[in-house]
Amino acid sequence: MPNVMERIARPIVGLLGGTFNPMHFGHLRMAQELAESLQLDEVRFIPSANPPHKTAPTVSALHRAEMVKLGIASNPIFKFDDRELRRTGPSYMVDTLQSLRDELGAQASLILFMGSDAFTEFNTWHRWEEIIGLCHIVLAQRPLAAKIEPLSRTLDTFLHNHYTENAEDLRESSAGYVTMQAITPLDISSTAIRQHLQSKKSARYLMPDDVIGYIQSHHLYGAKGA
Ligand code: ATP
Repeated sequence: MPNVMERIARPIVGLLGGTFNPMHFGHLRMAQELAESLQLDEVRFIPSANPPHKTAPTVSALHRAEMVKLGIASNPIFKFDDRELRRTGPSYMVDTLQSLRDELGAQASLILFMGSDAFTEFNTWHRWEEIIGLCHIVLAQRPLAAKIEPLSRTLDTFLHNHYTENAEDLRESSAGYVTMQAITPLDISSTAIRQHLQSKKSARYLMPDDVIGYIQSHHLYGAKGA
């Protein structure tokens, strides 16, 4: 166990970016399990203002952010990070990581969480090849295997060049490694939740009750009122 000074010298910070339209237990459980297995000091939830890879969310960034705040409120190591909401233009992850690196310093271990579905498109992200110089990446298997495209040759080579099976490597350096972690598979998606709500069905047990209460009181997604 590193001593306190070492821990301060190298904070180990998980990062979960997303549209969170809306936030659900798939996001929260992934963050919880990765925080435990990688012994993270904190996990930052970073809602995207203008997600470059999705059609513009029907629900405003403000509402999506409020739902994230409600969802993480009871966990002291989960932190809300509004840096993408404060920027204009597309919410590029490379800009977010550069700004986190500037804030947290060269020594911090930054660990970007990604569902396996998101990784199949990673090489289409803006300046994607710079990202691994700014953080580590941990891939969490998402139970949508049938829909997931096989990895392109470019991403296969990228994985080969950066992969480690030893999670300690991510704690002992600030950036540069990719690893995979098994998590409890929860087949929950924001898309499916939006469809439930639109058809006046309940989203209970898919997401925190406080988030459901927020959706109802603000009449989001065509949900039934409170
Ligand atoms: P949508 O259905 O609208 O595309 P989503 O449920 O995939 O949304 P996002 O906010 O886009 O949610 O996801 C942010 C990150 O969380 C992505 O890396 C995604 O792969 C991951 N993620 C989302 N849901 C799960 C889940 N159930 N299990 C593991 N990872 C997940």
